[in-house]
Amino acid sequence: MQRIHKLSDKGVTPGLAVVLVGDDPASSIYVKNKEKFFLKNGCYSQTFRLKSSISQEELVGFVEKLNVDDKFHGILVQLPLPKHIDSQSVIDHINPLKDVDGFHAENLGKLFLGYPRFVPCTPYGIMELLDYYNIETSGKHAVIVGRSNIVGKPMALLLSQAFKKGNATVTICHSRTKPLKDYTLKADILIAATGVPNLISADMVNENTNIIDVGINRVEDDSEKGYHICGDVDFKDCLDKVKSITPVPGGVGPMTIMMLLMNTIKSAEDAY
Ligand code: NAP
Repeated sequence: MQRIHKLSDKGVTPGLAVVLVGDDPASSIYVKNKEKFFLKNGCYSQTFRLKSSISQEELVGFVEKLNVDDKFHGILVQLPLPKHIDSQSVIDHINPLKDVDGFHAENLGKLFLGYPRFVPCTPYGIMELLDYYNIETSGKHAVIVGRSNIVGKPMALLLSQAFKKGNATVTICHSRTKPLKDYTLKADILIAATGVPNLISADMVNENTNIIDVGINRVEDDSEKGYHICGDVDFKDCLDKVKSITPVPGGVGPMTIMMLLMNTIKSAEDAY
């Protein structure tokens, strides 16, 4: 990639520090994938594995050390954190100029105001997918199911901004939305980010809907592995009905890692 070569000519390798607390198997896999992807693309990534009993103060202290380490242009604290830790407080101790996940209050505020520094990676990846596949957003009705700070809310902000890609009319649904189907049926673009396997079925969507499935759910089964991964949308059920649909695995997941790389490169460029 040209931007990485340009940095390399200046003696700079974009570097990412990943902080992994505890031994959640899904988080370990995500972190390994991120590290592999960075190394494959000529960037640097180092994972710091910390015990789940770490205190809030120790974790904040660790993050603050990374803030002043020039090797790292990006710092990512893998979520979820153990229950005794205040996640947002830890994130808000990351230097906002290195917050490549885009979850720091300052970066979310900038996104809210319409001049983002780092766009959260999953919504950023979804915007890139919509752009790449020429899916019109302007004047369209986007329905987002899920209102988390990392997916649903930033997604709603991006789609509703008066950006080149944006200008959608956005409806945000959540677990109290009743009945969900009344809203999903009216979607030109449907973004499912709930963590509920196969929540969206064919009777909840229309023929003109473009579906983006964000969910990554581990469902136990009788296979050798003992589980399979599926999204929040019943893919088989919806495939023949809708205009387009992203698969799980695949689809949004790989885009999220790509955008993490892009944000880390941007951070390295901004630093030199
Ligand atoms: P989260 O923080 O748990 O939020 C889930 C949201 O879904 C909440 O707003 C919740 O509503 C809503 N919800 C739950 N059940 C619902 C239902 N039956 N009907 C309507 N809304 C419902 O989850 P998240 O972190 O946003 O992640 C969502 C999914 O995306 C997970 O499967 C996660 O693994 C996946 N994910 C994938 C990527 C990727 O790279 N592809 C990145 C991040 C997350 P309330 O607010 O009312 O509780």
